[in-house]
Amino acid sequence: MSATTVIHFDRSAKAATPDASPSRELPSRDHQRTGCPFHDVRSMLRDVGLRPTRQRLALGWLLFQKGDRHITAEMLHDEASKARVPVSLATVYNTLHQFTEVGLLREFAVDGSKTYFDTNVHEHHHYFVEGDNEVLDIPGEVNMAEMPQVPAGYEVARVDVIVRLRRKD
Ligand SMILES: [Zn+2]
Repeated sequence: MSATTVIHFDRSAKAATPDASPSRELPSRDHQRTGCPFHDVRSMLRDVGLRPTRQRLALGWLLFQKGDRHITAEMLHDEASKARVPVSLATVYNTLHQFTEVGLLREFAVDGSKTYFDTNVHEHHHYFVEGDNEVLDIPGEVNMAEMPQVPAGYEVARVDVIVRLRRKD
């Protein structure tokens, strides 16, 4: 088992203003438990200032109807095709990035090339199962006692820990 720690640095001036949407409590979790999901995606989008276009509604519904999950653009594009939602992979990418910018999703990379989007935007870390390409949440805290000294003028914006697992023979 090996662990990869990805630390994002942000200029402190920018990171010092956590005003906007990303960190604020989002209504999505409650919305999943209430009635019509399509209606709830519409109000989720409104709450974060995104116009509820047909494509955003359809992709939002596919994303958020199943509880917390980790998904790549390709996986969501597949689901959209199966649900007969006519949408290009490029649009899926754009929509996922828009949702991430307003704090509805959290983005993290595995292996540099694979980008996953997480519907759980709260602070947590991940296991990545090699071979299965499966991403799982690590329950509870990860002890980061030995944090590196960050360069002058920077502060830690976020720490993503990805613990890579492989099955024992
Ligand atoms: Zn997660």
